[in-house]
Amino acid sequence: MGCSPWRVAAGLNKLLHQIDLAAPGRSKASDGSIGDTAHQSGGACSSEHNCGCVMVGGVWIIRARDFTHDPARGANMAVWAERLRQSRDRRIRYVIFAGRITGPNHKNADGSWRWDDYDGSNDHSKHMHVSTWNDQARFDDISDWPIGATPGVPGPPVPVPVDWRSILFRSLPVLKQGDNNRSVKKVQALASALGYSLAEDGNFGSGTKAKIQAFQRSRGLGADGIVGEKTWRALAGGLPILRAGSKGTDVKRLQALLNLWGKGIREDADFGAGTHNALASVQREGGVPGGGDGVAGDDTWRFLLTA
Ligand SMILES: [Zn+2]
Repeated sequence: MGCSPWRVAAGLNKLLHQIDLAAPGRSKASDGSIGDTAHQSGGACSSEHNCGCVMVGGVWIIRARDFTHDPARGANMAVWAERLRQSRDRRIRYVIFAGRITGPNHKNADGSWRWDDYDGSNDHSKHMHVSTWNDQARFDDISDWPIGATPGVPGPPVPVPVDWRSILFRSLPVLKQGDNNRSVKKVQALASALGYSLAEDGNFGSGTKAKIQAFQRSRGLGADGIVGEKTWRALAGGLPILRAGSKGTDVKRLQALLNLWGKGIREDADFGAGTHNALASVQREGGVPGGGDGVAGDDTWRFLLTA
């Protein structure tokens, strides 16, 4: 089954954002969203990590996220799992951590949100798994998760304010020659918009590597041809708020990313009606907060770089 394009439920991205803000230095070694083939054996709808089950606007929706257990750096999933359990948040279908499962919908659920033994093959001691229901009103709900102070539960560390761009760039995948995925397409589109013309085929071959190295040299970055946090930041720019009437290189970057959604707009660095309409339509299809207002702000940039 084709699994493209896909994105993660916006509500789970919000949860990720809250956990990242609370524990900015946490490990992401066992973080994940879309499933590997092991998840697919029971059919597309057997795991919320699978695409092929729920689609919105032509995009497959992943309704589960895994969060790495890293108590030394403020990401104690025993605490977060208990907070989610106590929240009884309407988005949650079930939560699994360290051999236990809770939530309103799992094999032994009885509506009490008690902890039950989890008898799946993976005991989830390295990460917490959070699944949402399959309806968009729930999985794309981006309200704050009510996981702040709860009586009797030790709180996570006091959040250190961190610029959302830093979190975003740190969360993007490190890409190198041999990779073949949608993130590579974004790199190729951004590089092309900056004058390093590349086929936007998602295939990180020697041609892409050579252009990335040339780009890195032009920016005084180490020319290793690997797209990590600094190169992503240089390619994507400052992610400013853009709207009709905006002009310049950041508009061109935006247009290039919109064209990955098949919009076919001119990449002319001039934010006119065509760009506005294309942006509004991608925002609606993607469930980006703002309801398709055609203004590119932080939610939009985050969506375009991660979905
Ligand atoms: Zn999982």
